[in-house]
Amino acid sequence: MERRINGHTGLLALFGTPVGHSGSPAMYNFSFQHDGLDYAYMAFDVNVEQMPAVFDSIRLFKMRGGNFTMPCKNIAAELVDKLSPAAEIIGACNVFVNDDGVITGHITDGVGFVKNLEVNGVDVKGKKTVVLGAGGAATAIQVQLALDGASEVAIFNIDDEFYARAESTKEKLATRCPECKVTVEHLEDKEALAAAVNNADIVINATIMGMKPHEDVTLIDKSLFRKDLVVADTVYNPEKTKMILEAEEAGCQAIGGKGMLLYQGVVNYSLFTGKDFPIEEYQKFQA
Ligand code: NAD
Repeated sequence: MERRINGHTGLLALFGTPVGHSGSPAMYNFSFQHDGLDYAYMAFDVNVEQMPAVFDSIRLFKMRGGNFTMPCKNIAAELVDKLSPAAEIIGACNVFVNDDGVITGHITDGVGFVKNLEVNGVDVKGKKTVVLGAGGAATAIQVQLALDGASEVAIFNIDDEFYARAESTKEKLATRCPECKVTVEHLEDKEALAAAVNNADIVINATIMGMKPHEDVTLIDKSLFRKDLVVADTVYNPEKTKMILEAEEAGCQAIGGKGMLLYQGVVNYSLFTGKDFPIEEYQKFQA
């Protein structure tokens, strides 16, 4: 450590609450050290009311960049100087990069998700997709699919407080990505869901179902799975959800949520440093 941190070391950090459990400091500090970059990454527990002071500090300390987590992602989007197209549509950012005093906010959940599909050989361009969910992860994925050229995004959500967000995403995408057909339906409508899955190339679960303690739940009946369907989950705990196991059994290409987590980090690292994240070395370090 005494050789790593010096008078010139640039600071990056995660802001939000809680942050104590975060794997980000270990991930980025490992990579900075591996690549010989003079940066250090910390985590600071802050609430929404403290965010204007956080931005003063980012500017005062000339921080290179960092991340925002809940509940600070929306307020952060109001305090940055510029927003990436996805962050602007969503009105939230989980990453910031400070280029000589100009702070740009990005949202990389959706980028990481699409990148994970890509490294698994799945291109979303021109594809018909079904996305279950309308929360933070689901919205980021829906917007990124549309920005990356998916031809259809069929959103299904239960009749809860997130349903209105799906309607709002549909409205925003109608203006921003008019070539992508976006529909919103109730997840309780099993006939509509079956018809959408039958019509789709890629089906994505971006709800909390399948995640512990809901690991016995799957939202798609396995009778709908066919060999040419790609089934992807955002849930990474357990690593293989019930939906992913059933999709594998049916011979589908099944892609779990762990890669989405990794590729968000990969995308963020490249935004911070302009370099490729040392994936293999980090995976060895984690093992
Ligand atoms: P959120 O709280 O913003 O959204 C929750 C979603 O789950 C909503 O759409 C809600 O309607 C739905 N939901 C809740 N109860 C349900 C039920 N009984 N049946 C069907 N749907 C239900 O959560 P989020 O932050 O968007 O996280 C959603 C999922 O994405 C989680 O499983 C999380 O683990 C995963 N995620 C993964 C990554 C990754 O990197 N792999 C990153 C972020 C989130």
